[in-house]
Amino acid sequence: MPRSHGRSGYRWRKARATLMAEAPDVCHICGHSGGANEADHEPSLKTLEALGLDPCDLRFLRRAHGTWFRCPVCDRACNQSKGDRELPPAPRSSRAW
Ligand SMILES: [Zn+2]
Ligand SMILES: [Zn+2]
Repeated sequence: MPRSHGRSGYRWRKARATLMAEAPDVCHICGHSGGANEADHEPSLKTLEALGLDPCDLRFLRRAHGTWFRCPVCDRACNQSKGDRELPPAPRSSRAW
């Protein structure tokens, strides 16, 4: 078994609980409030690990909607939908200038 790292273990649960207790219930991805009960990493977990930063540090955690707690307003699972898949197509601005 690898040592507990990232999103598992006591430290992660504690960090997440603190985030839910102290951060306002607003999704940092879609900006809607209500039910943003997943903890998301900002910057991403990959980035944090690459930089050797602590993924359980509250400075890097944000509340977000997810598959278990979809947004009541836009019905998105924000945490998952911002991943590699399901990216909204970039608006092609036909710049005239
Ligand atoms: Zn959201
Ligand atoms: Zn939303």
